[in-house]
Parts: sequence; C-alpha cells; structure tokens
Amino acid sequence: MDSFEKLKILGQASKYDMCGCGRPNEDDYIKNGIYRVHTPDGICSIFKVLLTNKCHRDCAYCINRFENDTERVSFTPDELARVFMSVKRRHSIQGLFLSSAIDKNPDENMASLIDTARILRTRYSFKGHIHMKVMPGASAAAIEEAAGVANRLSLNVEVPSEKYMGKLTRAKRYGEILNGMSEIKRLKDKGVKVTQTTQFIVGAAGESDREIADEAFALKKDFGLARVYFSAFRPVEGTPMEGREATPLMREYRLYQVDYLYSQYGFTPRDLCYEGDGNLPIDKDPKYVYALNHPELYPVEINAADYESLILVPGIGPISAKRIAGSRKAQPYHDAGELKGTGAVIKRALPFITINGSSPVIQQRPEQLSFL
Ligand code: SF4
Repeated sequence: MDSFEKLKILGQASKYDMCGCGRPNEDDYIKNGIYRVHTPDGICSIFKVLLTNKCHRDCAYCINRFENDTERVSFTPDELARVFMSVKRRHSIQGLFLSSAIDKNPDENMASLIDTARILRTRYSFKGHIHMKVMPGASAAAIEEAAGVANRLSLNVEVPSEKYMGKLTRAKRYGEILNGMSEIKRLKDKGVKVTQTTQFIVGAAGESDREIADEAFALKKDFGLARVYFSAFRPVEGTPMEGREATPLMREYRLYQVDYLYSQYGFTPRDLCYEGDGNLPIDKDPKYVYALNHPELYPVEINAADYESLILVPGIGPISAKRIAGSRKAQPYHDAGELKGTGAVIKRALPFITINGSSPVIQQRPEQLSFL
C-alpha cells in the first residue's frame, strides 16, 4: 500500500482525538489528514494522524481496539515525516497532531512518535507546532524525550476515576495516566517549554457531569493543564459499545461552559449546581443557574459594583464587565440601553441589575440562547 493510501486510513482514524477548541464537525475533516480547527482567533488547519492503528488493547469505545475488524496499517517515522512535508507544501497547515495506537509497548510506540518529530525538526527544519500524544504507561525518560521535540503533550484520562476506567478497558490504569501528567508537570516546572492537555469522553462509562467537572478542576490545578477537552460519547460500529446511546451534545457544551467558569470567572466546584442525578441542567447555562441559586448577590448596581460582582450577572462577561467598570466613572450609566456598546446581552442582564438604585424596565425572564 502506498503512503497516501495509508494516510486515508490513518488520517481518518485520528478524528476521535480533540486537540483544538471544541468539537470537530463531520465536515471538518478535509482530506489527507487535514482537519479544520475552530479557535477563538478563527479557523485554522492542522494535520492530524496516527502512526499506526494496530493496537493490542481493548478500549470498548475505540474503533482501533484489537478485536475490531478494520484495516490495519502503519507508517514508519521516516515515511510519515515525508508525507507530512509533502502535504504541507501543497496546503496551508498551522500544526501537526501526532498520535498512535499501541501495538508494542508504550515506550516503543513513543520512540516512533519521537523519531517522526525529530526527523521533521532536523532533516526538514520544521519549526511549527507539534502536539504529541503520550502513550499511557510511557516511562519518564520517554516523556522527557517527547518534551524535547513537541510543543504540547497530552494524555487522555477519558473518565474521572479508576472505577470508571475499569468499565471501559482492562489494559489502562488511571494511576499510570496521572503519573504521566505529573511527569510533564515536573518537566514544565524545570523550565522545559511544553504545555499539556487532556480529554474526557462524556458519558461513556455512566459517570456524571459533577464527577467529570470536579476531576477536570483537580487535574488543571494539580498538573497545570492548558486545556481540558470534552467529547460526548458516540457509539462506534463494531465495538462492544455500538448499541449504546450517544451522549447528548448539550452535556459536552455545558461542561465547556463550566470549564470557562473555572478559568475566566474563578469558579470552583462548590459554586456549581447540579440536578439530582449529578448532571448539569441541560436547559439552562451554569452561570444562570448560579444566579438563580444566589438571590443574595443580586441585583448588582451597574454604577458601583466591582468587577467580580459585574461578571456574575448573566449577560455580562469579562469583556463587558471591564468596559462597564472602565467607562462609568467618566460617564455613569442612566438606562439599560447605554449598556449596548459594552457587548453585554441586555435582556438577559435586566432581571439581575439596578442602575442608580432602580430596576431597569422590561423585567421578563430572558431566553438562554448563549452563554456570558
Ligand atoms: S489504546 Fe485503547 S484508545 Fe488507544 S488505540 Fe488502542 S484501543 Fe484505542
């Protein structure tokens, strides 16, 4: 099989790994391993590929698990580096995401990934962004080598604890994934310029949003993760989970909102409100639910409240809160319409604010169509 035939298989096979912002759409796979990635700064393209889809492990959700009837192929490091450069010459690509299934032991598969990145850095002088997947169970020495050639490393926890991991695979240990993350953190603390991320598969093992959100918070704090990705479980044909129901995409979306509350609003797990089953309310965003559960904090006076209080108003985000706090001294607000230029969603904010001590007009409860 020639290299571009392999690329058709191994480029598609990498689609389950998230390495940009948010969920890739079905049409985000362009061709030849190129994926469109949606970032806060716009859309860019990355080359995402597996070195091999041969795997001796048994992860119940995965198309590459050893029992699955799928065509198995591998690149050599030399071959993949050549293929990447050839695609890069013809397309604008902002980065490379390198991953692999595990057909040998974790360190041997890591060695192939590291060789690929090293060939790109030395033979082809590639200076772009490389995000490399670390194989669960890889040694500290292998992780250190990977950090020397990649800009970003990731180990996917997939679930919030060992208990849930045991429901998906017999071959991975939660502890070995945490050990790998801890090793990357140690290298970062030593001054190695590398960042790390992780990913959860939401709803694959029966875990609740609360368990995922609590663990995401702990992992970010303990290991200094740059990003946590959430991927709603989708059953894959031919796997033991093919008959299972897909997780609603809204659960994934709500978890991203929680992550945003952690990183931009200083929320902690105890600030979040869950339904009786431990999941986030599907029909309301978590900041709005927080406001409804804390009537003692509202209304917030637009002309006097500090930044921390302003951002707790539904409809007012960090940018609009800064604009309000920055402009009101020179020109105090007199009515809600003047908030328009700050970016605030006025209808949503109205029930939670006063302006010069009075409640602005239009007191109806707002629709929750977006998140601020
Ligand atoms: S280790 Fe598990 S998730 Fe990774 S490729 Fe193999 S079966 Fe799939």
